[in-house]
Amino acid sequence: MIIDSHQHFVRLAKHPDVEGFRKAQLEGKNPEALPNISDADVKKSLEQVVSLMETRAIDVAFASPRAKAMATHEGTVEQNAIWADLNNGLISRACKLTPGRFVPVGMLGQHPSCPSAQVAKQIERWTNEGFVAFNFDPDGTGGRWQNQPFTGKHNYPVFEAAQAQDVPLVLHGSESINKNFPHTAVQYLVADITGFVQLMMAKDLFKDFPRLRFLIPHAGGALPCQIGRWRAISKYNNWASPDEILGNGNVFVDTCVYNHMNMQMLFDAVPLDNILFGSECDGAFPGVINDETKDHYDNTRRYVDDSKLSAADKQRIYAANARRVYPRASRWIKS
Ligand SMILES: [Zn+2]
Repeated sequence: MIIDSHQHFVRLAKHPDVEGFRKAQLEGKNPEALPNISDADVKKSLEQVVSLMETRAIDVAFASPRAKAMATHEGTVEQNAIWADLNNGLISRACKLTPGRFVPVGMLGQHPSCPSAQVAKQIERWTNEGFVAFNFDPDGTGGRWQNQPFTGKHNYPVFEAAQAQDVPLVLHGSESINKNFPHTAVQYLVADITGFVQLMMAKDLFKDFPRLRFLIPHAGGALPCQIGRWRAISKYNNWASPDEILGNGNVFVDTCVYNHMNMQMLFDAVPLDNILFGSECDGAFPGVINDETKDHYDNTRRYVDDSKLSAADKQRIYAANARRVYPRASRWIKS
């Protein structure tokens, strides 16, 4: 069993009616009718990714809305609630139309002025619809980083809901309005790094929510190469150490790095029980070839397969950890 824990339905999000709806929203037209996407169009948008999963022998993927398009720093609180529900509805349909293949992960209608109790209600609603986790943007201001650290009490209703529903929060950045921070190359990684460090700094968070779990994508940003720096700073500042928040089972990372060397660094730096297989296939850089492997960069299975890990350790990363961290996923997985 191989589970890809990090996938976005980018092609579905790029459907002209979906993009047109958001554009109309942001122009203040607030269309009453949601886009009417046919089942055939939903299925067509998945063909490429299903084909790649078959080629790579990946059984199941946890799929969420396109991260860049979440962009809840734009729009109003009301518009973003509708936008999140629209995207989650499409994810839900796509998963149901391809049984056994995809597991739904949602987005949230975050907005700098949105009460987090409202976001918490969205977690409850979509968990009842079968969602197993939610993307949570630790910035939420489009690359301006103007909010208080996301770990603060202002977000406690969200954490209460996530812990009560037993769903992890995926700390995933979104669009950047700052042209110095291109979203895929920088802003997402800034979100990973900031998210990880804020979790080290949060003195009471895991005392208040001992079962709360965060998945930090892209190997935790700089975690594999800067874990020594963060160990030093945590001692100096009396923060929780990286080893503590990883060891307590509150923080996990995925394998979204794109060459052998960085994959090995990840395995050397982070406990294997904290690593979930992920690829982002085929959203981040579709079809781009790695000269080292002559294969797509995002075929991250290749880097795990070729590593020195034992077969048992690979299986933890490929499936066992994902099933443990996302317990609600079992109902979507056939075996
Ligand atoms: Zn992603």
